[in-house]
Amino acid sequence: MLPASLKSDFPILGETVNGRPLVYLDNAATSQKPRAVLDASRHYYEALNSNIHRGTHFLARAATVAHEAARETIASHIHANSPDEVIFTSGATDGVNLVSDILPLSVGDEILISTLEHHSNIVPWQMLAERSGAKMVMIPCDENGVLDQSAFANLLSDKTKVLALTWVSNAFGTVNPVREMTAAAKKHGATVLIDAAQAIPHMAIDVRELGADFLVFSGHKVYAPTGIGVLWGRLDLLKSLPPWKGGGEMIKQVTFEGTTYNDPPFKYEAGTPNIEGAIALAAALDYVNAIGLDAIHDHERKLIAAAAEALSEIPGIRLYGPPDRIGALSFAIEGVHHYDLGTLIDQMGVAVRTGHHCCQPLMARFGITGTTRASFALYNTMEDIEALTTAVKKAATMLS
Ligand code: PMP
Repeated sequence: MLPASLKSDFPILGETVNGRPLVYLDNAATSQKPRAVLDASRHYYEALNSNIHRGTHFLARAATVAHEAARETIASHIHANSPDEVIFTSGATDGVNLVSDILPLSVGDEILISTLEHHSNIVPWQMLAERSGAKMVMIPCDENGVLDQSAFANLLSDKTKVLALTWVSNAFGTVNPVREMTAAAKKHGATVLIDAAQAIPHMAIDVRELGADFLVFSGHKVYAPTGIGVLWGRLDLLKSLPPWKGGGEMIKQVTFEGTTYNDPPFKYEAGTPNIEGAIALAAALDYVNAIGLDAIHDHERKLIAAAAEALSEIPGIRLYGPPDRIGALSFAIEGVHHYDLGTLIDQMGVAVRTGHHCCQPLMARFGITGTTRASFALYNTMEDIEALTTAVKKAATMLS
């Protein structure tokens, strides 16, 4: 297990809620920020703040160097072939919208997604389907929230132009076999986008080994600020696909007669970017790597297994997702509304999320409107799990 002292790296975790020490188990929604990240943000505004890339003065050069160094840190964290494959976005949602807006699809094409997807990996594709006449196709899951691989194999065909798949389910913690599924889709010539929003805080990512074309994530799920994210893309695709938003920075030459576009990554970064966010994201990844992703993964697996075991003793409880889930543990107690449960345990100082978790099609598949979800981060401890299970047991008794 990781040392409990890591909590003291995160100032907010020293706060009290309703007179009790905060037990923060809503990490799949957003993670808390360590001092190293807060310091990087503050240092940027105190010592570097300037607009990047075109300035000749000292601060403009210093801010540009720091911003591009952040891109390199991120590229090496995900094992990209080049920093040019790393495009800064405002988050995972932004990245999916970027890709779904530039892919040329037409009538007869199919977009394959899974039942486990977050709305941000559904709706942009539905919008593309509406625009292009392409068809949405859904990979089903079983009662454990595990994707049906034989159904997936049958759904694949040469009509499959896109596979858009989450690596880890934010609702149930299911880890999809993304390498194998990517390889199968590539055999049919599909473009593959992996949503790594819930993978990035919990596991090592190697985009070269993955074999996909695009991968998106948000900084705020991995201890960085909100408003910064990454789209990784294969360089040949980024070069050949059309630009997305138009504006400053994404151009080489503009005349009133026409424009020539910049090379990736700048081609996809119109306008002044979130400079501080990029630098803070690199600081967050440095922080994570100093602890070690294997150690984090191992720690979180022990926490989630302990939570699942303790909660399963509660009469009428149903845990969703497979036993080897990571990140998120969803549950429901018969006769108890998830919203009431969440509200009561919040009064006991435990922060969890209730509702559909932006996965309404998945909730519909299970015939429910939502669940209560505890989700875990490197700073959670066995004491947090005890606080969670004690609070849920108490609330369940009061509500049923
Ligand atoms: N995909 C998954 C699996 C997520 O959990 C989330 C955030 N809950 C998103 C995408 C969207 O991330 P963001 O809102 O940061 O763009």
